Amino acid sequence: MARRRQLYEGKAKILFEGPEPGTLVQYFKDDATAGNGAKSGIITGKGVLNNRISEHLMLRLQEIGIPTHFIRRINMREQLVKEVEIIPLEVVIRNIAAGSIAKRFGIEEGTRLPRTIVEFYYKNDELNDPLVSEDHIIAFGWACPHDLEDMTSMAMRVNDFLCGLFGGIGIQLVDFKLEFGRSWEGDDMRIVLADEISPDNCRLWDNQTNEKLDKDRFRRDLGNVREAYQEVARRLGILPEAGNGGDMKGPETMQ
Ligand code: 5GP
Repeated sequence: MARRRQLYEGKAKILFEGPEPGTLVQYFKDDATAGNGAKSGIITGKGVLNNRISEHLMLRLQEIGIPTHFIRRINMREQLVKEVEIIPLEVVIRNIAAGSIAKRFGIEEGTRLPRTIVEFYYKNDELNDPLVSEDHIIAFGWACPHDLEDMTSMAMRVNDFLCGLFGGIGIQLVDFKLEFGRSWEGDDMRIVLADEISPDNCRLWDNQTNEKLDKDRFRRDLGNVREAYQEVARRLGILPEAGNGGDMKGPETMQ
């Protein structure tokens, strides 16, 4: 197959030019980083699992009317997505205190928050993705008040839906990070969910044991990272019970 033009390489994914105008190919790598690149490693098979998990979740969200960039999965490590103009914000939705909010406010990890909290971080590695207010976002022109309203209401709907979906398979959705993009059709712009939803950007805890089934296993050196991601996929019903989810190897799986 002809080499496609690589447009961008991030920490966990590569974006290639898509087969038609307005499309991109999103390739999921096995690379894992934490602490803004301070720690890095390879989790064999992670890319395959995240490609499948994110496909599944994006399709379920589309069924309830959430617009997303996802078009279809192409192979074990790649999916076709709409080309969007990424809004430079990370939208974090929290149900239970963990990670940076627990540290920032001295709340014990695992404490249920009085209500769901939505936070915005400015996507900028050099600045370590700082927490920002809605005023910062509007003043610096990263998004307008209407975009912010759209992102917040979509984020809350995604949270409601995913809490139910994960609750049904014995998993608590502690928190997660979303990214949004602007999708243009002629002069019409709409905001769509972009990037991925996977154990790389969600905190997922087993309901019974509170065992972590997400990237915190890598961040905190807890071991069995791939097994945790596989367990999430298995419970979502997208891995055969006894299987390994197909080819867990490297880039040679690209077709
Ligand atoms: P925290 O702010 O507690 O570190 O992260 C909150 C949630 O957002 C966690 O589920 C975490 O995985 C996700 N998150 C925040 N920033 C990033 C990021 O830069 N990359 C990824 N993969 N996830 C993030």
